[in-house]
Amino acid sequence: MGQEVYRQLLEVMKKRGGAYSGMDIPEFFDFVEELFTPQEAEVNNAMPKGFFTAKALAETMGRDEKEIEAVLESMADKGLCLALSRDQSRVYQSSRFMVGILEYQFMPGKTTDRDKKIAQLIYAYKKAFDQKTDRTVMTFPPTRVITVDALVKVDNQVHTYDQVQTFIDQSDPIAVTTCYCRHAAVLRGEDIHGMPNDVCMQFGPMAQFAIDRLGGRKVSKQEAREVMNRAEEAGLIHMSQNMTEGLGFLCNCDRWHCGAVKDALAKPKPGLFFNSGFEPRFDPDLCTACGTCIDRCPPEALTMGDDNLPQVNLDRCFGCAVCATGCPSQAISMVNKPGFPPPPKDAKAFREAVNASRI
Ligand code: SF4
Ligand code: SF4
Repeated sequence: MGQEVYRQLLEVMKKRGGAYSGMDIPEFFDFVEELFTPQEAEVNNAMPKGFFTAKALAETMGRDEKEIEAVLESMADKGLCLALSRDQSRVYQSSRFMVGILEYQFMPGKTTDRDKKIAQLIYAYKKAFDQKTDRTVMTFPPTRVITVDALVKVDNQVHTYDQVQTFIDQSDPIAVTTCYCRHAAVLRGEDIHGMPNDVCMQFGPMAQFAIDRLGGRKVSKQEAREVMNRAEEAGLIHMSQNMTEGLGFLCNCDRWHCGAVKDALAKPKPGLFFNSGFEPRFDPDLCTACGTCIDRCPPEALTMGDDNLPQVNLDRCFGCAVCATGCPSQAISMVNKPGFPPPPKDAKAFREAVNASRI
């Protein structure tokens, strides 16, 4: 098998798509050879689209079912593929690098020497990949900001997909895992300045996978709300996918470590790419011009106006409400931002939106 199986893996991962899908550079092979054994790479390369059983994959590969099942189970434990229970049987699904395998490596929050090595190798690959890719090209955003819905001013329209609370109320189970971006930084020896690390949330089937395989902690709805409150106090941005109206996960991101936020900030107008569909409104009767909101704003979208009232640059503003959650005078509420598109209805609509934005 040797090197050839990893060259095949490169082509397979390119076809799977997503961010950091695969690039023929030395850093790619350094990290995949650490992540996958040759046998795991071979099984990964043979995985079909969609859900499949160990029996079906073993037949495709002309191998023994028990042997393939053991490899798949080990891969799911390592975050190299998904494993879910469906209709009382075990099904598997291949994963992209991102969103997927790269995040799964750090969600368990482990700190072994191997975890530290993987963190360094993934960082080196992403850095080399970014240097060879124009990340500022405007495309349809795969992620969206979720504003703090409790701060949306009465009379504004708030859709279900805008409301984290709704997903907490509707989802079972709910899991909390380690933030992979900040944990990867910790593994690389960086300081995360006391920001909370155990605030990533998964809902429904993804939560069950996280609980079963990624060291996720099953939490009650009350605990989930407390996690949200902690993230808001720390000035973190609620963020999720922008591929459908549903929420499979909710990240609580900062501006220094989160890849999605850093990607947005590299664009000339970050607020037009990465947004919640809301913007802040400042109450001149309540504002004391303390400047807290300006310090907290992740994309530095705020400045103090001549009238001692904060001014917002909407080209930069994410609509995250981090300014509002930190305002000691409750002078900030969130209102609808006209013109920001809703999330696509399904995966087909998402692909169409991405293609249209490239044109
Ligand atoms: S944090 Fe509140 S009170 Fe302070 S400047 Fe901002 S809006 Fe005004
Ligand atoms: S002004 Fe800054 S903190 Fe407030 S919603 Fe916009 S991006 Fe978020």
